[in-house]
Amino acid sequence: MIVLDTVNSLQEHVSARKAEGKVIVLVPTMGALHEGHIALVKAGLARDAHVIVSIFVNPTQFGPSEDLSSYPRTFEADRTKVTAAGGHAIYCPAADQIYPPGFCTTIRLEGPASVGLEDKFRPTHFQGVATVVAKLFAQSRADFATFGEKDYQQLQVVTRLARDLDLGTQIIPVPTLRESDGLALSSRNVYLSAADRATAPTLHSVLQATAEAIRSGRSIASAVLEGSSAIKSAGFALDYLEARHASSLDPVASLSDGPIRLLVAAKIGKTRLIDNIAV
Ligand code: AMP
Repeated sequence: MIVLDTVNSLQEHVSARKAEGKVIVLVPTMGALHEGHIALVKAGLARDAHVIVSIFVNPTQFGPSEDLSSYPRTFEADRTKVTAAGGHAIYCPAADQIYPPGFCTTIRLEGPASVGLEDKFRPTHFQGVATVVAKLFAQSRADFATFGEKDYQQLQVVTRLARDLDLGTQIIPVPTLRESDGLALSSRNVYLSAADRATAPTLHSVLQATAEAIRSGRSIASAVLEGSSAIKSAGFALDYLEARHASSLDPVASLSDGPIRLLVAAKIGKTRLIDNIAV
């Protein structure tokens, strides 16, 4: 398992693997790896590809009052996990490899990035995500990149980005990995107190109950209202629970509006959790 920390070393590494006929799969992460990230590595290995995990805590996707400085950084454990999973390389650039002095270019987003949901609560988030993802794709020239459905709006944003700008990297979506009680794995789950950890799976159970109510003919508006009340009663501060079209993320009023995704974001204690499921 090779660790690369400069753009030049990454590009040499990728050129050599491509010359051997290898397909390159990039797994972009911010580290603090868990089994959800490892599922993305395995999705790459399942394609018989050369799998490179990038680890970069991207400052431009954090808002001013968010957890950039306290975000968990666990490089040695991450290296062990990528090695055990069979990943081939880690790319962990210093900030100046992504944002060189004088850096002044960003990508302006519409479509799934501009329909509310996360964008309403984290207005500069997707611009930061799109910029770092475009950089990582340009630097690695990966054939594929795996992204988790856990960050569903992000998945739609990067899929659109890669297509719109012909970045040459195809996005592979990977289903959300969960704890046995339904809580979606997340690097931020380490922030949860024991009591909040016990409450946290409510988000998933409410998503399931809301999806089931909609499937069995309840109106979307009333099912979402009831789900929102259940989340608040459990002790969460709810940012949103919404039903959206599964790919455009446009608002939907009924089941006939197309494939529907339920998306939620809520705070328990100081920890903000997001989750989603298909209806
Ligand atoms: P992060 O390190 O949180 O930026 O996440 C890196 C990638 O891992 C993103 O594509 C996430 O959607 C994905 N990911 C995070 N948690 C999970 C999970 N529980 N299941 C599947 N993918 C995940």
